[in-house]
Amino acid sequence: MTCADDDLYQRAHDVELAFERCEPWCRLTDRHRSESFREDQYCLSVERRVQFSLEDCAPGWAMPVDDVAPHIGVYARRDYYRMPYIMINLFRENRNEFRCIDTDFKVTPLEALELAEHLMAVVAQVVGGGA
Ligand SMILES: [Zn+2]
Repeated sequence: MTCADDDLYQRAHDVELAFERCEPWCRLTDRHRSESFREDQYCLSVERRVQFSLEDCAPGWAMPVDDVAPHIGVYARRDYYRMPYIMINLFRENRNEFRCIDTDFKVTPLEALELAEHLMAVVAQVVGGGA
C-alpha cells in the first residue's frame, strides 16, 4: 500500500464519519446507534406544525395543535449517507379506509424556498400589496 492509498483510505473514512454524525438540528445526538438498521438511522429535527382553522373538523383557536387536527408539519431530515432535505407532512381526516390522509413530501432546500416564496406572494395578494 502506498502513501496515496493511505490518503485515499483516510479521506474515505472521513466521509463515512461525516455521515455517521448527527446533524446539529437532530433531535438525537447518539448517532442513532440504538437503531439496528441503516434505514432507521436518520437525523430528524423537531417538527414545526401549522393547524388550519378553516378546515372541517378544525378545533377552536384555544385548542393546542394536536395529531388529528388538519395540519401541515415541516421538519428537516437526513437519511444515512444522503444530503439533508425537508419533509412536508400533510394530515387531514378523510372517508378512506384509514380515515385520514397522512402523507409526506420530500423537498430540496431550493424547492422549499420556492414554495415559501409562492406562499408569501399569495398572502400579499390576499391582504393587499401583491400583484
Ligand atoms: Zn441524528
